[in-house]
Amino acid sequence: MSTLAPTTPLRDRVAVITGASSGIGEATAEKLASLGARVVVVARRADRLQNLVERIAENGGTAVAIAADVTDTTAVQAAADRVEAELGGADLLFNNAGVMLPAPIEERAAGQWQHQIDLNIAGLMHVIGAFTPQLVRAGQERGVADLINTSSIAAQNIFPTFAVYSATKAYVTHLSRHLRAELGARNVRVSAIEPGIVGTELQSHVTDQGALDWLEGSKKSMEWLTAQDIAETIGFIAALPPRVNLQQVTIMPTAQAG
Ligand code: NDP
Repeated sequence: MSTLAPTTPLRDRVAVITGASSGIGEATAEKLASLGARVVVVARRADRLQNLVERIAENGGTAVAIAADVTDTTAVQAAADRVEAELGGADLLFNNAGVMLPAPIEERAAGQWQHQIDLNIAGLMHVIGAFTPQLVRAGQERGVADLINTSSIAAQNIFPTFAVYSATKAYVTHLSRHLRAELGARNVRVSAIEPGIVGTELQSHVTDQGALDWLEGSKKSMEWLTAQDIAETIGFIAALPPRVNLQQVTIMPTAQAG
């Protein structure tokens, strides 16, 4: 039975967060640190990570920045080795880096297809591959570890021109369900979080005018989720008793229908 103070339920835990230089990852790093975890923040923009680390430290938390491109297997393995050496390994992985580049399929935007597949699928896998040994060991030694993958409502619902992005997220959700079955017996909980629209930098990378118009209309007609809403939910998932595994969490703006 845990005797941890209710305000720091993640004390003694080491959380690695990818895509932590902005949006959902950044907010989640701050949240997990506030719940007592030592956090490792990973993304490419080192300056943004450094600011985040300093902010977390000012608020009494502990954070380490590792600038890495998750599509680079060698860089990801080096990050995992550093977490092992400096912090004794991760027991919570929020595998969150991703990009959304919608476009009509007939435009044959092969570069954008590849970018989404390389990051949302291959990058996600590099991170899982590098950190799973640490999670499994933590599961065995400490009785619980978490692998939380960021999917999307796009994994479930249908959004014209978002086919490639949606398919990458369907991969994430389905992969997570299989990994849960594989790793659960070893005390590694696996979850997929599937947000509807969250106001972040994600939308700023969109180049397709039709998608930009759709996003603009959506922003006017409803209140989007905030990155902090997702961060709160990740904190909740991670702080649950070890016997409880939220397999899939769909979190929507109240007014978003699909
Ligand atoms: P942001 O664009 O704000 O965050 C994306 C993060 O991924 C950034 O920190 C970026 O940092 C990082 N990243 C991008 N490419 C790489 C790379 N090659 N290597 C390492 N890190 C990288 O968007 P969100 O916070 O919204 O996105 C987070 C996740 O949430 C994504 O997987 C997205 O698909 C998902 N999602 C978002 C929704 C939304 O409406 N916002 C809805 C549903 C799901 P840097 O550029 O410094 O590397």
